[in-house]
Amino acid sequence: MTVELIKSTRTLDQLQIVWDAVIIGAGPAGAFAAMQLAGDKKILLLDKAHFPRPKVCGCCLNGAACATLARAGLSEIFAQSGAVPLHALELHHGSDQAVLGLPANGYAMSRNFLDAFLIRKAVSLGADFVCGVTAKVNPGAESTLVTIDVTASDYCATIETKLVIVADGLNGHALDRINSFAVQIEKDARFGCGTIIEGAQTLKKGRVYMCCHPAGYVGLVALEDGRYDLAAALDREFSRQSGGPARAAEAVLKYCRFPLPAGFSEAVWHGTETLTRKRERVAGHRIFVIGDSCGYPEPFTGEGMAWALQSAEAAAVLAKAAIIEWKQHLIADWQTQHEKLIGGRHHRSKFIAYSLRNGMLCDLALPVLKNFPFIGEAVLANLSGSSDKRIAFGKEIHC
Ligand SMILES: Cc1cc2nc3c(=O)[nH]c(=O)nc-3n(C[C@H](O)[C@H](O)[C@H](O)COP(=O)(O)OP(=O)(O)OC[C@H]3O[C@@H](n4cnc5c(N)ncnc54)[C@H](O)[C@@H]3O)c2cc1C
Repeated sequence: MTVELIKSTRTLDQLQIVWDAVIIGAGPAGAFAAMQLAGDKKILLLDKAHFPRPKVCGCCLNGAACATLARAGLSEIFAQSGAVPLHALELHHGSDQAVLGLPANGYAMSRNFLDAFLIRKAVSLGADFVCGVTAKVNPGAESTLVTIDVTASDYCATIETKLVIVADGLNGHALDRINSFAVQIEKDARFGCGTIIEGAQTLKKGRVYMCCHPAGYVGLVALEDGRYDLAAALDREFSRQSGGPARAAEAVLKYCRFPLPAGFSEAVWHGTETLTRKRERVAGHRIFVIGDSCGYPEPFTGEGMAWALQSAEAAAVLAKAAIIEWKQHLIADWQTQHEKLIGGRHHRSKFIAYSLRNGMLCDLALPVLKNFPFIGEAVLANLSGSSDKRIAFGKEIHC
């Protein structure tokens, strides 16, 4: 499925008004926040990329992510995209494998479709969208407006806003000028990489394949248009020694005796900065941080999209109050709410990734899961974060 290029709704010289909120980053967190705030407010959504843009992601939406989209009245996205209902997880480690049933509430959907859909929705509700610009927030301790420097290849200006929502993801640097928003990166953090593979595959639709190796893991899933998304988290040294991310991913697949997908050697790869990171502060004077920009553990449990959407949904409630009148307690409010909503789930995901690295999960748990899959299925149901049934065509279907 091809997604048309999304055009900016304003030219760069039309940005000089006082915005109610500027949102930096139009990934799922930023676009979803813009959608929640759009209406009678002047909302500007900015992104340095042009959409659709490539994004390293496993493209799996768990139950919590789907339920958040449904709560915002976006259930039609599943039918419109032709999203693939997910029903099984096939775990591989060496010659061992186990197949677990997934809770019947998740979908695979390409990021091209999802991200473009959310931006279009925000624009249709009245938000302005400008792409191809990089934004940096300026420090300004007690001022009534936040200033943001916006640059494009041939443009540079400072714009003003009552509130800024930073949703610039894992690779974002929009807050680099404010020391108190520093990011702590874990010493041995892995990096992410991925590609979309064209061509007929023998893999089953609706099944997530996860191949595990002591130095990383590779996930594969069929998308709505028949292409395959391949996403991996790898040790940097392993990747370097293997000759780069593609060769390292190939080594993981071979270690698991997993057939190399057709088209693998022609695929174009993208990468991320190091994954496991955390920002101690996710709020400041007239600033809220949401999505991956707050920190990210590892992608093994496939929860990042749910965290991005849910943090956007929750921050939008505080943002509405902040636009009407800024109160200093909003800083502590978002800090506490974010920790409550996402903090524990980040820790759990980190613990699972740690167990995987130390062989506990694969060496000890996989043989057990093979014989007692219901144990793993109970864990997966809990990780999916929602007991809702799958949403299809705007209503529940029972699987
Ligand atoms: C290998 C891998 C596999 C994954 N698999 C899954 C999965 O299967 N399921 C799942 O739920 N999650 C998965 N995730 C996590 C998921 O991709 C992220 O959690 C999600 O993309 C976060 O959304 P976001 O909107 O916070 O950030 P992003 O999607 O990264 O969006 C940030 C946006 O900000 C823009 N930007 C950055 N800096 C600036 C700037 N200064 N000015 C303007 N724009 C800027 C970028 O261009 C980008 O468009 C995976 C992640 C990795 C690395």
